[in-house]
Amino acid sequence: MKLKNFVSFLISKRILYLQKNKRLVMAIMITDECINCGACEPECPNNAIYEGGAEWRYSDGTSLKGMITTLNGDEIDAQNAFEPVDMDVYYIATDKCTECVGFHDEPQCAAVCPVDCCVDDPNHNESEDELLAKKDFMHL
Ligand code: SF4
Ligand code: SF4
Repeated sequence: MKLKNFVSFLISKRILYLQKNKRLVMAIMITDECINCGACEPECPNNAIYEGGAEWRYSDGTSLKGMITTLNGDEIDAQNAFEPVDMDVYYIATDKCTECVGFHDEPQCAAVCPVDCCVDDPNHNESEDELLAKKDFMHL
């Protein structure tokens, strides 16, 4: 193999490796350890944090209004009220959490939580690109 072709081969292998090994990040969830202090709620750039028992909406704190097509392909009214995820402690609406990607270097809820109960949600693995797309979807 000529040197030029060999170098091209190595570069293409490196690109394939990087594509396969994109950093996987996760949405954040709040555990039952939450003491309901409310410190995290105003820190969220996506208004993804709600008090226990409160309904959540795509339109809260975002640019979304009227009929929208979600990233899952669902057509809904942005003001549609969704059932609370937790009745007793603060919770995060996963569909609105970007792990602060696009706004901050680290999850702001986890940074301010006094009892460290904002943790990675193992059921919601998302790539950084997916989280950025979510952010762009919510903030025009
Ligand atoms: Fe909001 Fe960021 Fe916490 Fe997600 S990680 S709930 S976007 S503050
Ligand atoms: Fe709960 Fe932590 Fe948020 Fe306080 S900062 S409401 S303890 S999740």
